[in-house]
Amino acid sequence: MQILPVIKSEAYGHGLLPVAKTLASEGIYGFGLSELEEILRLREAGLALPLFLLSGFEPAWLPEILRLKAIPVVTDLYQLRLLADYTRKEGKKCAFHLKVDTGMNRLGLPLKDLTQALTIIRENPQLKLEGLMSHLACGEEPSCQFTEDQLRQFEEALKALKKAGFRPRFAHLANSAAAILAPKTHYNLVRPGLALYGVYPCQEAQKRIRLKPVMTLKARILSLKDVSPGEGIGYGPLYFASKPMKIALVPVGYADGYLRALSNHGFAFLRGRRVPVVGAVSMRLLSLEVTEVPEAKIGDEVILLGGPNREVPVEELAARAGLIPYELLCLLGRENFKIFLRT
Ligand SMILES: *Cc1c(COP(=O)(O)O)cnc(C)c1O
Repeated sequence: MQILPVIKSEAYGHGLLPVAKTLASEGIYGFGLSELEEILRLREAGLALPLFLLSGFEPAWLPEILRLKAIPVVTDLYQLRLLADYTRKEGKKCAFHLKVDTGMNRLGLPLKDLTQALTIIRENPQLKLEGLMSHLACGEEPSCQFTEDQLRQFEEALKALKKAGFRPRFAHLANSAAAILAPKTHYNLVRPGLALYGVYPCQEAQKRIRLKPVMTLKARILSLKDVSPGEGIGYGPLYFASKPMKIALVPVGYADGYLRALSNHGFAFLRGRRVPVVGAVSMRLLSLEVTEVPEAKIGDEVILLGGPNREVPVEELAARAGLIPYELLCLLGRENFKIFLRT
């Protein structure tokens, strides 16, 4: 079995090139991406591995797809015809993967169109069907009926291919959750995203495997002050001190991806202790109640996300913001200055 790490959206906020370069040296098969621009950057950085364009394409992208030797994922008859017509006209070969819809009703060829698709592929020998894939709607629950139904549909599609004389090299279905929890979805290629970054896709996965978070967000205390009972903190104020409190101001806010939804809900880690976010998260500032950390000083480092020992688990912080971990990683990763450490 081979691995196709999914590094779309700036490697889930972690930084496309450093993540790609690190994983490329780990013996992976190739990478899954969602934009041609990402593939261009990886090729320009000298990466020769197979690069999959997972989320479909527009007609105008075809010359560049071929020039960059990207592997397009074809998701409907329209795209298949585009690819067939263009490659025939240009006299060029192209390897591609076919994505079938097995019940998610998102991206993917409806199974009723499969016969027609196979006819088009057969009539266009310049096209090489290298893989059949689909995507799971609830991979976090591998034993649920929906996943079972999807698996059955996928098997049906594989059978139809075989019957029509196609023997694609790869079949793939599993995201992180399914890769961890459901071996029967593995076939010969898996497509983990979230788990690569050390984040659990669901609680069940946490029981099966130990992951180390890759992203840590840190900042330094900018200012400290004492407030008296009854005094308000920040805009609104959304928070009033119930006792004498020490408040630390940190220069991170919603413009940095630390969402306002974490007002009164977020927490950070300072000198070995959890400290709550109090009051509204501002554009570039947030307040932490550090009364329990009397030795706190201006310039102290606080962990706002991640940490070497999961001090601020992204799973928990995301839930407190009403988000899934994917969203928080993309948001926090996009805006902030990054240092890459190999540990
Ligand atoms: C993003 C993506 C994945 C990775 O999903 P995770 O839940 O992050 O593991 C896998 N396959 C496809 C097609 C994707 O778009």
